[in-house]
Amino acid sequence: MWDVVVVCTAVLVGLLGGWWLRGNDPRIQRLSHPFDNADRAREILERLRELTRNVAADVDKHQALMGRITDELHASEDQGPATVLKAVDKLIQSNERMQRQLTSAEARLETQAKQLVNHAVEALTDALTLVANRRAFDKALGDACRAMAEQGTPATIMMIDIDHFKSLNDSYGHQAGDAVLRGVAQILRQRIPAENLVARYGGEEFAVVFPTAHVEQVMRIAERARRAVGEGTFDFEGLSLHVTVSGGLAELLPSETVASVIGRSDDALYVSKGQGRNCMHVHNGRRVVPVDDQAQEADPHADESSTSAPHDPGISSPAVFSSDVRRRLSEWKSGGAPLCMLFVQVDDLDQIRAKYGDDNGQAVLRALTLTLKAAMREMDHAARFEEDALSLLLPGCTMRGAITVAERLRAAAARCELHARYPCRHFTVSIGVAEAMEDEHEDALIQRVRASLHVARQQGQDCTYLHDGVQLHLVGAGRLSMAR
Ligand code: GH3
Ligand code: MG
Ligand code: MG
Repeated sequence: MWDVVVVCTAVLVGLLGGWWLRGNDPRIQRLSHPFDNADRAREILERLRELTRNVAADVDKHQALMGRITDELHASEDQGPATVLKAVDKLIQSNERMQRQLTSAEARLETQAKQLVNHAVEALTDALTLVANRRAFDKALGDACRAMAEQGTPATIMMIDIDHFKSLNDSYGHQAGDAVLRGVAQILRQRIPAENLVARYGGEEFAVVFPTAHVEQVMRIAERARRAVGEGTFDFEGLSLHVTVSGGLAELLPSETVASVIGRSDDALYVSKGQGRNCMHVHNGRRVVPVDDQAQEADPHADESSTSAPHDPGISSPAVFSSDVRRRLSEWKSGGAPLCMLFVQVDDLDQIRAKYGDDNGQAVLRALTLTLKAAMREMDHAARFEEDALSLLLPGCTMRGAITVAERLRAAAARCELHARYPCRHFTVSIGVAEAMEDEHEDALIQRVRASLHVARQQGQDCTYLHDGVQLHLVGAGRLSMAR
């Protein structure tokens, strides 16, 4: 009988320990980094150790008592019913005491284990929105970078920022703003598949890590989440509030650092803000493009005859271009390659249109775009600044190289022959070139290139001018300004 009591006690203690070690809260499974404060965790663990030490001591005491009662029973001369009953009574009392001690230990263990789990969850959760916090995001992104470096596993990140949030706070108060933050977090959590980590990055910014996903797999989900926020209403004290969000996406490049991929998705977000907000851009490793355009670029069946300027695949908007120039300039300052830029503009497009019709003008623009694309290297970046003016960023290119590119482009444009259905089958272009100078701001560089182009157009067209930082120089000119 005593043996049974001791075995039962040991099993109960074992079960308690097992329950504690396993953890019974499913939230703990989602947390890969359960402690943000090692001292606090150590303190809880020490209390748990003390508790198990006490339970073990109680069990030892109980076992010793059992042994003593057994010995007494064996040693006693009097084996009559009164002696046996006394011994059984002692055993029952001892077992009851042990039972109470174990029940109390179980309750304390449960409390401590809950504290441990809550502590772990809190350490990685944003208190206001209840999505993951910045610490959890950093950890997840660090893991993704390691997985990419070690196994080549892809990963994509998205940054989202609420548009004009300050004015919402100013108009309706901080608490209304808090309600919107909670609502936006909830929509993101609902719209983004659970295997990805949605985090509040800080303030009114959220970030998502899509481990194992290429950016093409994420674009549609990201766009849908963005639209869902814009279509949502957030109720606060009888008010029905609306917000939109802007976003930036970037897929992790091989061996890329956490800081670099965050910087690229931030660039894409910055461009979304510059493009009027409530939209999403992606940094594709070379440049920032609208999510829609990127999808079109990836689509081999995209309409090749399309000429509408904003949707021309591979040709960015001015905001995207400026952002890339800014990034390239800062890379250059920190030891990267120098860069040159050129602007090319069709000569007399207005006259072509007026004389030969809009179709003919569109055909000229299409021909220029194709000519420019044919002259581009993989790392070059083209943008449309005006309907008839394109810019080209040439990273790693010296001034001499940029002049060669410009003159080839000018000659190629002059050689173009449009289809016989167009009355005006030839056109020329004027070009301005400049090389970036140290500590130059992107706007200043763009301004110098524009100034070169302006002079090229004033000085007879079909020619190339460069700005060397001080003055303008003619570097080449065609025989005719209008070779049609
Ligand atoms: P943009 O479209 O350019 O992002 O403009 P914005 O007004 O959203 O951006 P800005 O950075 O000017 O303002 C962000 C505001 O977010 C300012 C700050 O008071 C507010 N904010 C940051 N954290 C919280 C928060 O926890 N609760 C509330 N209610 N507001 C917050
Ligand atoms: Mg912000
Ligand atoms: Mg904002």
